[in-house]
Amino acid sequence: MRIVGLTGGIASGKSTVSNLFKAHGIPIVDADIVARNVLKKGTGGWKKVVAAFGEDILLENGEVDRAKLGQIVFSDPGRRQLLNRLLAPFISRGILMEVLKLWIKGCSIIVLDVPLLFEAKMDKWTKPIVVVWVDPKTQLQRLMIRDGSMEEDAKSRINAQMSLDLKRSQADIVIDNTGSLEALHEQFQKVLTQITRPLTWTEFMLSRKGAFLTLFSIFVGVAICKRSS
Ligand code: ADP
Repeated sequence: MRIVGLTGGIASGKSTVSNLFKAHGIPIVDADIVARNVLKKGTGGWKKVVAAFGEDILLENGEVDRAKLGQIVFSDPGRRQLLNRLLAPFISRGILMEVLKLWIKGCSIIVLDVPLLFEAKMDKWTKPIVVVWVDPKTQLQRLMIRDGSMEEDAKSRINAQMSLDLKRSQADIVIDNTGSLEALHEQFQKVLTQITRPLTWTEFMLSRKGAFLTLFSIFVGVAICKRSS
């Protein structure tokens, strides 16, 4: 199985690229969806977060008020780290479960769409790693337009993240999304060709087919040994 890592910075165009993969039939594991699920009322993540941040962060229906929690952690790096630390094991487990479901289905190439791929050290699970990069000026403009935010607010959200240049330096494949959507689509086609090339032997052995083939070979080997003894 080939597990492609997809990451980027805020408003670099990661979701746009993720949607292109989806549109081309590549299964996606979306860490944002997993992160939302691990905070649902009554789950282990919900319990940890309520215990650490208090019931003030809850809505009337008992669900976490994400906007309120977001404001708290955004203005306080210590509490942001705490939240990340509390939720990280639940998110990793959730992602692993989604990968397992796709493995059982027999998918051989999947994309892990994880904004904090490097920060959460999930990069070691993925190969190749695709980083969607954009120049800082364009990133700021797109963020302000998309979220309707003020320049100062947008800048501090960008600065709160790991630098996009550092992410780029750790990528196997870089998509430069500074240009138009047409330019992005052109690059995407090349990336699609790269990531859908035939599986390596190791990737094949990690796929469902490879695992069944190994089991079958062991079974045949044992049967032959028994016959000849
Ligand atoms: P991310 O998921 O990395 O936060 P998005 O995919 O949401 O970023 O992209 C940020 C914004 O920029 C969105 O409004 C998106 O429609 C827009 N966008 C993405 N790529 C381009 C592009 N090449 N040209 C113009 N706008 C773009």
